[in-house]
Amino acid sequence: MDIIDLAKNIFRNLRFTLKNIPKKPVTINYPLERRDIPERFRLGTFGLTVDKETGDEDCIACKLCERICPSQIIEIEIEKRDGRGWAKIFNLDLQSCIQCELCVQVCPVDAIIMMKTPEKPVTLRSDLFLTKSKMLKNASEYEESWAKGSILQNTYGPDSGNNNG
Ligand code: SF4
Ligand code: SF4
Repeated sequence: MDIIDLAKNIFRNLRFTLKNIPKKPVTINYPLERRDIPERFRLGTFGLTVDKETGDEDCIACKLCERICPSQIIEIEIEKRDGRGWAKIFNLDLQSCIQCELCVQVCPVDAIIMMKTPEKPVTLRSDLFLTKSKMLKNASEYEESWAKGSILQNTYGPDSGNNNG
């Protein structure tokens, strides 16, 4: 590179810097400042809901979520009693979750839901292994996302006219 090219580069970069000085920064002073989470945000972890009146778990252990999960990370063991199914075991390994939301979408009783937890770092892999009790706790502890099976089925179902995702 000769001296003229060097001078041109310096001038160009200097001009770019000077042009951007009056602009407001795009970064924020995280974690002291936080961005607003979009209303439709739904990522992070999962919850399992309970009936607000009876306290019974909503999940009927139909295994639809287990069958549809492309990552095959849901494991459910069924128990039958009182004329319905219950999840004796419900595990979900977040380590391999691709957050496709299919499990939520197929649930016929809105039992598995996504929570609004954009900031939930963990230090142990075992913390990403969700058991039934962890997911029940998540549902009571964190804000739930708007997306539930019944809503998503209406949004993306065959009659919705909105099948492009
Ligand atoms: S979001 Fe997708 S990958 Fe994750 S558990 Fe649900 S179905 Fe499986
Ligand atoms: S969470 Fe929903 S889809 Fe999954 S087993 Fe329970 S009832 Fe069925």
